[in-house]
Amino acid sequence: MNDESDSAFSMQRPAPDSDRIAGHVRDIVDRIGRAALRAGRRPEAVRLVAVTKSVSVERIRQAIDAGVRLIGESRLQEAVPKIGALSGARDVRWHFIGQLQRRKVKTVVGTFEMIHSVDSVDLAAEIDRRAGEAGLQQDVLLEINAGREVTKTGFSPDGAADAVTALEAMPNLSVRGLMVIPPPGPDAEASRPYFRALRELARSLASPRLTRVRMEELSMGMSGDFEVAVEEGATLVRIGTAIFGERHG
Ligand SMILES: *Cc1c(COP(=O)(O)O)cnc(C)c1O
Repeated sequence: MNDESDSAFSMQRPAPDSDRIAGHVRDIVDRIGRAALRAGRRPEAVRLVAVTKSVSVERIRQAIDAGVRLIGESRLQEAVPKIGALSGARDVRWHFIGQLQRRKVKTVVGTFEMIHSVDSVDLAAEIDRRAGEAGLQQDVLLEINAGREVTKTGFSPDGAADAVTALEAMPNLSVRGLMVIPPPGPDAEASRPYFRALRELARSLASPRLTRVRMEELSMGMSGDFEVAVEEGATLVRIGTAIFGERHG
């Protein structure tokens, strides 16, 4: 932070919603834990990804102070300066969760611990190429278009097996599991069949013969349906609104 923004900040009163953000984080962690126990799972098996699109650095810092360690961004342009501003903050990791264009892959690789939104073999190949240039292994998840919505990207459930075969041959890619965004529904229960289908798809894709493809992560559940997702096996829940409030912009 430069001097100018520092002094501008010191003139402000403490952010009024600081306690509220911390309270929301505690409440969500608690609800995740109870949903896990209901399903006979360990609460530690589920990790919270705080989704910070349109959220300021100051408010992200408050979430970090409240214990958040994984941060999800879907807009690269917005994420890059925030990552810079928060680079001195504790041990936080960034996850990329939005649609990713090929020409932006270079920026994402290595900067984000995990890319949740690999939606084509072409995109995977570009990530593999850039990770190779950077000398690293990039963790990714395959986004599944479980609702078979034409407006949404992602692998069809039927196409996932072929994708896995293709990605297994990419040396700088480490496929860790699957991600889904169910179609909008009337309530949380409407998401359950999609979450269950994702878990079953992961089970059917897992194979000891695969070395670079593992099916240990299920990224599913957002503010409106994360408890159902945890009951159905989510290991990563992506939550924005329930932590930071409604987004403006
Ligand atoms: C914005 C976003 C979320 C968080 O949604 P909320 O309903 O605000 O919790 C989760 N996943 C993705 C991919 C998103 O873009």
